[in-house]
Amino acid sequence: MKKKIKNKKTLANILLRNYILTYFAVTILVLLIFTFSLIFGLLLYLNINHLNANSASKMMKDDYKAIDSSEVEKLGGYIEVVDDSNKVVYRKGINPNPKDSYTPYEYYRLLTNTEPSNPEVGISQNYENTPGDTVDINYFKSDKYVYDKAYNYNQRFLLIVGVPENRFLKYIVNDYKLSPGKFIIITLAFDIGILVLVFILLSKATSRNFIKPLKLLTEGASRISKGDYGTRISLKSKNEFGELRDAFNMMAEEIEKERLLKENAEENRKNLILDISHDLKNPLSSIQGYSEYILKNPGLSHAELVNYLEIIRLNSQRANDLIQDLFEYSALVSSDFNLNMKTMDINEFLRKIIASYIPLFEKKHMNYDFQIPERKTYLPFDELQLDRAISNLIINSIKYNPESTDILIKAGPEINHYIIIIQDNGIGIPMELKEDIFHAFVRADTSRALYDNGTGLGLAITKKVIEKHGGTITLESDSNMGTKFTITLPFN
Ligand code: ADP
Repeated sequence: MKKKIKNKKTLANILLRNYILTYFAVTILVLLIFTFSLIFGLLLYLNINHLNANSASKMMKDDYKAIDSSEVEKLGGYIEVVDDSNKVVYRKGINPNPKDSYTPYEYYRLLTNTEPSNPEVGISQNYENTPGDTVDINYFKSDKYVYDKAYNYNQRFLLIVGVPENRFLKYIVNDYKLSPGKFIIITLAFDIGILVLVFILLSKATSRNFIKPLKLLTEGASRISKGDYGTRISLKSKNEFGELRDAFNMMAEEIEKERLLKENAEENRKNLILDISHDLKNPLSSIQGYSEYILKNPGLSHAELVNYLEIIRLNSQRANDLIQDLFEYSALVSSDFNLNMKTMDINEFLRKIIASYIPLFEKKHMNYDFQIPERKTYLPFDELQLDRAISNLIINSIKYNPESTDILIKAGPEINHYIIIIQDNGIGIPMELKEDIFHAFVRADTSRALYDNGTGLGLAITKKVIEKHGGTITLESDSNMGTKFTITLPFN
């Protein structure tokens, strides 16, 4: 039976989810690693303290002569102070192309390092061609300086700081023994290491979805193979492993049930053999004992001889009954046994059985009442076996109850089945034996059993016969409350 799984998470869904997660995780990780490597590289190779080496605003002082340009000069650069009339009023350090004043164009080129654009004539290259132009274009072309500027509002002057580009760049870059090439290789190796680690962790997380259930199932299977049939797998899973768990547990349950049935059957078989040997032992020992006694005492009187022979006869009868009942019981429990079913009028059949016992009822002064319908009711049954089953119940009522006991035999069709009730108000059967009394060799009063000539197989045979017909037999009884057996037989 397949259990329907709600909100089923299939393994394919899990794999897809994990794949998407891995994809995003790796993409984000690659971006992070790249950014961090870049920042780390910059921090490693850039000397932040030297970045401001050419900062004009940092150097600015109202008294321009007091401006400390030593760091700039050390780098081969210079500072220049230009007043509001564009005149260079102060210079410190070496400017390879010193000027006395700056035109706005020169300012622009100097401070932005780009050509000003002229929407009408395009890029102001025409300066170069303008006759009488005083601008030294080469000054800018050979210009490999990094400039910065700041304006002093108090003293109204512009401070220009120029540092040779190559020296400035060397100055701001840390001089490490580790070459950038090596740094890139190390960083790449580190990054790949992290990626591999993340891949391993993610694949482990994915495989956990498979490994844990597989491990549990394997362990369970191995425990069952070692004989631990109570093994059940508890695994929280809504995917195919959940179905496998249910199938596994169901299989374990079936095996356990089968095993229990087999054990019970084996136990019953052992008990049966024990009971048979025990029950046969008594009459056989008795027969053996009395026969030996008679043989050893040839002078026994006729009356004594008759008495002993009667005991021998009774015990032989008992052994014979026991063997007969056993034979019938074994035949019924054997899987080869088949009923000889014939569809007949069961009412007529019951009337015949009951009629055969009337002399016995009369003999024991029992008050009998029979309620069997007059009309015919057809039913398939095995005449011989059902006779045996019902006779057992009637004989028991006569055998185990005192004189004047009331006995009622009632039968008739119901909606789905035919019902037969055999009831007396005699000594009854203790309630606790309600189920067990149908087992072979179980008797309500064992002390009386031998005297009553019972074998303890009667009800077991009756139950088997009824069950073979597809019917049921139940007992309602208690000590001194009488006994009521109810049999149901199906119509087909
Ligand atoms: P047995 O061969 O001993 O009669 P049964 O299986 O037919 O074996 O009955 C089992 C026991 O149930 C009997 O030994 C008896 O103690 C009890 N029993 C059966 N039927 C009745 C009954 N109608 N009234 C009282 N006791 C009964």
